[in-house]
Amino acid sequence: MTQSNQKTKVIIIGCGCIGLSTGILLLKTQRYDVEIWAKDLPPNTTSNKAAALWYPFLSEPMDKVGRWSQETMDYFKQHILPLDVRDTGTLYKKVNEFFRVPKAENPDWSPFVPSFRRIKPDELLPGYVDGYAVDDGFVMDTDIYMDWLVQSFKKLGGRVDQRVVVDIREPFIYSDIVINCTGIGSRELIGDRHVYPSRGQIIVINHSRDRSLIDEEDDTKIAYVIPRVTNSVLGGTNQKHNYNLEPCPKDTKEILDRVATISPEFARDKIEIIGEKVGLRPSRYEIRLESELQQDGRKLLVHNYGHGGSGFTVSWGCANEVLKMVGEQLPKLKCSTSPSSPSCPIVRSKL
Ligand SMILES: Cc1cc2nc3c(=O)[nH]c(=O)nc-3n(C[C@H](O)[C@H](O)[C@H](O)COP(=O)(O)OP(=O)(O)OC[C@H]3O[C@@H](n4cnc5c(N)ncnc54)[C@H](O)[C@@H]3O)c2cc1C
Repeated sequence: MTQSNQKTKVIIIGCGCIGLSTGILLLKTQRYDVEIWAKDLPPNTTSNKAAALWYPFLSEPMDKVGRWSQETMDYFKQHILPLDVRDTGTLYKKVNEFFRVPKAENPDWSPFVPSFRRIKPDELLPGYVDGYAVDDGFVMDTDIYMDWLVQSFKKLGGRVDQRVVVDIREPFIYSDIVINCTGIGSRELIGDRHVYPSRGQIIVINHSRDRSLIDEEDDTKIAYVIPRVTNSVLGGTNQKHNYNLEPCPKDTKEILDRVATISPEFARDKIEIIGEKVGLRPSRYEIRLESELQQDGRKLLVHNYGHGGSGFTVSWGCANEVLKMVGEQLPKLKCSTSPSSPSCPIVRSKL
């Protein structure tokens, strides 16, 4: 039996930032043989359309989101931010969120982020009276970062297969452990009507600066500027139950109007638009991160979807949680006649 035969096979459905982060952490343990099955691969996933900065936003439950965000920040600082930005597309940029009326409270996630602080008066932009700051915030240029995730996954021995899953029972023919990272696809694949799209449109401009700026006081009229490696992203929209994947001129106009009110530096005549993108955030009343035993306890299905506007922000924390769930549930799986059964070493060694 080769070393790889001794590993437990895992199939992940979905090749966005959630499926890839989960796959990488599973592979790093050297206990699992991991295959990703996905309908769309980067650059054609929702994840590729994201802004994307580390900042808890539009996802619940906030206590868990806070912990997963902090774990994700730690993972980036330890494993990704020290690498060459040209490879990972990831770089430190402080974040400032602004308010036009004073905020009585700090955000629910602030206890998890040691560097969180209230903004200083000299950091405020005109028209704003209060704000939050995270000085060790960071951004991911999704064009580069998503490629880096795919390459990292493959270098660790992971395989990617482009295929549509129409029935969740299908991957269980090949593996006793399946991880569902299908984002908005979970609505169809497992019939979860709690998942719905929150349409996000962004504009890419050829202009960068030193910090990310956010105004999301009204979550239907959000405005942000996110500087990346060679460009910046202006946003955005948060249109619930809207499936339109085409950029809409009305949204473009309104985003530019809103961003110009954050700072006149981004007025139309001062920027050059180099691209527009639309993605559907996989929104849910809360992120679904849970395991279910299937087929009389012989198979394990783990769900990791519904990350709303914080998929990147919680990605490594959620992946770590999946790792723990799989490790805990693995010994409980009952023997099956499947060649991939993890709990029947004698059967496997005969094959
Ligand atoms: C405009 C915009 C800005 C954003 N900004 C930020 C930000 O600044 N910070 C942040 O943290 N987050 C941000 N987000 C949110 C973030 O992009 C999402 O939370 C994240 O991409 C979700 O990742 P995912 O891997 O779950 O989904 P996806 O990237 O959608 O990946 C899902 C995968 O599942 C596959 N799949 C689905 N159904 C099936 C099926 N039946 N069979 C096979 N494969 C299937 C898909 O093909 C795809 O490969 C933003 C989103 C948008 C749209």
